[in-house]
Amino acid sequence: MKRFLIIGFMAIPALVYGAGHGHGAHQHGVATLDVVVEGNALQLELSSPADNLLGFEHAPKTAAERAKVDQLVKNLAQAELLFNPEPAAECQASPPLVSAPVWGKGGHSDVDAEYGFNCKRAPATIALPIWQRYPGIRQLIVNIATDRGQRQLKLQPGQAISLR
Ligand SMILES: [Zn+2]
Repeated sequence: MKRFLIIGFMAIPALVYGAGHGHGAHQHGVATLDVVVEGNALQLELSSPADNLLGFEHAPKTAAERAKVDQLVKNLAQAELLFNPEPAAECQASPPLVSAPVWGKGGHSDVDAEYGFNCKRAPATIALPIWQRYPGIRQLIVNIATDRGQRQLKLQPGQAISLR
């Protein structure tokens, strides 16, 4: 008797397509900020779904959308519009590194930007004018690394980063 052999497909590991640059989960309304404090140097790395900052997440189709993307890249290049270490720390911002959004085929795109500050003393707090400028951000996950260890803050609009 012929037996009909069914060969099962090899289990194919599910491919997880992270949006953007592999920061993992991409959730609209949530942005991530990595904060590294080394002595008096402060490094911030922002990663946000483009939707939080633009209100859309596709390659710009109209002149208005193109203007919005241009404005975003300009704004992100001005650290003081987004992050203000406490004045007492006397921090000097170095030129930020802004990656314009890469329009993903899956319909999701991230925006990344890096900021460096050299301070006279280590700041205890960083105010976040980014909340006012980009109300599309409703939660900021802040990963802090200092010489005293690492921790995570989940901030709501209006809250500042406490580095103590
Ligand atoms: Zn998205």
